[in-house]
Amino acid sequence: MKVIVIGSGFGGVEVASELSKRSKLRKRSKDLDIIMIDRRMRLEYQAAHPDILSGKVTPEEISGDLNNFASRINAEFINDTVVNIDFEAKTVKTKEEREIPYDFLVFSIGAEQTFFGIPGAEERSYSVNTLKGAIETKNALDKLDYSKKISIAVIGAGLTGVEVAGELIDYFKGKKASAKIYLVELMPRVLPAFPTENVANYAAKFISDSGVEILTDTAVQEVSEHEITFTDGTELHYDVIIWTAGIKPNSLLENLELGIPKEKGWLKVDPYLRVDGMKDVFAVGDTAYFESGGVRSGQNVEEAERQGKLAAKNIIRTMKGKKLNRYRAKNTIQNPRAFISLGSNKAVMYFGGMMFKVFAYRVKKFVERRYMRRFR
Ligand SMILES: Cc1cc2nc3c(=O)[nH]c(=O)nc-3n(C[C@H](O)[C@H](O)[C@H](O)COP(=O)(O)OP(=O)(O)OC[C@H]3O[C@@H](n4cnc5c(N)ncnc54)[C@H](O)[C@@H]3O)c2cc1C
Repeated sequence: MKVIVIGSGFGGVEVASELSKRSKLRKRSKDLDIIMIDRRMRLEYQAAHPDILSGKVTPEEISGDLNNFASRINAEFINDTVVNIDFEAKTVKTKEEREIPYDFLVFSIGAEQTFFGIPGAEERSYSVNTLKGAIETKNALDKLDYSKKISIAVIGAGLTGVEVAGELIDYFKGKKASAKIYLVELMPRVLPAFPTENVANYAAKFISDSGVEILTDTAVQEVSEHEITFTDGTELHYDVIIWTAGIKPNSLLENLELGIPKEKGWLKVDPYLRVDGMKDVFAVGDTAYFESGGVRSGQNVEEAERQGKLAAKNIIRTMKGKKLNRYRAKNTIQNPRAFISLGSNKAVMYFGGMMFKVFAYRVKKFVERRYMRRFR
């Protein structure tokens, strides 16, 4: 049996590891070929990308060699981009013109940054969504002329925007330079995806006390060279603009020849994480739309990993002709949980609507280092 896992981020790595573990237990590991495909050579620990700006971590520390990882778990790694899938013939087609047959397929292709079609936004913004983007953002900051007044605009005050603002403070402290940092948010408060205001108020106070100016209820209309125009007609000068607002489904999903079930563009999955109506195709992580009883799985590392594990188990169960296990989301849109860094080596943990400040930063860093040990 051949399982192809497209995308080797948090979800994909978990699928492959779990399949490998379970196939060894069956003592018939030769029966199962695990093929991991990713357009990148390295797994990226995205939660630590903002730390690249302040220099707290190096790119090597927060990324891991996928080839080595795959060989350690007896999987094959192919560095290529999947461009299409023939669900009838059960083959995956890649940019480098490979055509690889599969028995089971797992989509774990994550999400992409969206600029909401705002004129000038994509061309002129930096982003930390990819490691390459985070390094380019840091390089742009390094190149600024600090004898002049500098203005940095961070667009989007979700988890990433707040963390980027905090790391920018640390960057300028380290450089002994000054700059005006703006954090721009469309909604009336920072961290709008977190249902209670306690964490938003705490984070807003912490970063504004550190010098960040927060502009809420503020929508970007256009980005021109060094000027942002807002929908109310006001303008803001910037030297560097960092876009941290919004994600959209992977463009591969738009390109697929055969129509597959989607919800708001994401791959709709059944209670067992199979793409709706398909018995041999699963989806996990950011790319999967899982909803049960009105509760939707969040797009975060915890859900990607838990879904990855369950999809692998259900693949093995399908092979054995056993009843599949249902997925239960824990870190949901309705009840999210997360560590949020605020700069100055401080963080807050949000869990069950409550905030925990003591040791939050240390725990966050411990989780990061422990995860990355898998790739050393
Ligand atoms: C800056 C940032 C900070 C974040 N901070 C946090 C945080 O603090 N806590 C948290 O829980 N979550 C955080 N997240 C979200 C978290 O990183 C994602 O939810 C998680 O990575 C989802 O895992 P995934 O496997 O679905 O996708 P990913 O980890 O993104 O992996 C997708 C993989 O698919 C590959 N791929 C995509 N398309 C193709 C293709 N066509 N062919 C081959 N390969 C392809 C990509 O190269 C990538 O390696 C953050 C995200 C970002 C961008």
